[in-house]
Amino acid sequence: MKDIATPTRTKEILEKYKFRFKKSLGQNFLIDPNILTNIVKAASLSPESGVIEIGPGIGALTEQSAKQAEKVLAFEIDQRLLPILKETMAPYPHVEVIHQDVLKADMNEQIAAHFKEGQDLAVVANLPYYVTTPILMKLLQEQVPVRVMVVMLQAEVADRIAAKPGSKAYGSLSIAAQYYADAETVFMVPKTVFMPQPNVDSAILRLTLRDKPPVDVVDEAFFFEIVQASFTQRRKTLLNNLSKKLEATMSKQEVQAALQEIGIDPTRRAESLTMQEFAAISSVFFRK
Ligand code: SAM
Repeated sequence: MKDIATPTRTKEILEKYKFRFKKSLGQNFLIDPNILTNIVKAASLSPESGVIEIGPGIGALTEQSAKQAEKVLAFEIDQRLLPILKETMAPYPHVEVIHQDVLKADMNEQIAAHFKEGQDLAVVANLPYYVTTPILMKLLQEQVPVRVMVVMLQAEVADRIAAKPGSKAYGSLSIAAQYYADAETVFMVPKTVFMPQPNVDSAILRLTLRDKPPVDVVDEAFFFEIVQASFTQRRKTLLNNLSKKLEATMSKQEVQAALQEIGIDPTRRAESLTMQEFAAISSVFFRK
C-alpha cells in the first residue's frame, strides 16, 4: 500500500469519502512523503518515543510518526475525519485518535492517561494555521512534559517565534516562546506540497523545551506584562511604553530613573532588549 501522503492515495481517500476541505479549520493536507519524513526526522524519535499530534487530517503525518514511535496520540476536531482515520490508521493500532478541540483538552491529564511515566515525548504536527499561536502557547504555558515540538506553521510566525533581539520579527511572541524553549526554524516548505495550497509560505519550527527558564523573574505574569507593554508601540521608546503601563503608580521621571539605575538607556526600543534585560526591568518595577 502506498503512503497516505502520495498525491494519488490522498485523492483516492478524499474521493471515496467525498471529503470537502473546510478552510475555517485550516485544512491543508500534506501530499509529499519526503517532507513528512524530514519533519519526523527533526524530532529525533526512538522506538520508545511517544508522539502527540494536533490535527491528523487523513493521517499523512500520523503514519510517518507511527512508523518511528511506540505510540501516537492525535487530537482531531473535525468529526468527518474520524471514519477516514479509522480506515487509514488500521495498519497502525498504536495510533489513538481523540475527537477534541485541542484548545479545550487537558493536555497534562491526557498525557498521563495515554503515555508511560517519564516516556520520551514529542509533539509532531502540521498545525491548523488559524490557531497556531494559541496552540503553541497553550502547550508551552501548561508545561506539557515533552522534549521537543516539531511543527509546521506559517513562515512568518516561525520567524517571529525564533527571532533574536535587534531583528524586525523580534517581539513579545519571541520572548514568550523562548522563555520555555530553544526555538529554531529547521527548513522552509513550498506551497506546492499541500492540498489545497495555502496562501502563505510555511516553515518547520523546532522548539526544544528547556529544563528551566533562561532568566530568573520575580513574578512570571508581571514579566510577560512588562514585555507586552514594552512592545505596545514598537516605534516608541521603552520609556514611553513603560510610563504608559505604569502611569497609575509612577511618574515618567521615576520610570526613567529606575531604568537608568539598572543601566538600561530609557531611549532604547523594546526590539533591542534581551530577555535578561526584560527580566531586570520587571524585577525593578514589580509592586511599584
Ligand atoms: N496532519 C494533516 C496533514 O499534515 O496533512 C492535516 C493538517 S491540517 C493543516 C490541520 C488539521 O487540524 C486539520 O485536520 C483540522 O481539521 C485540524 N484542526 C483544526 N483545528 C483544530 C483544533 N482546534 N483541534 C484539533 N484539530 C484541529
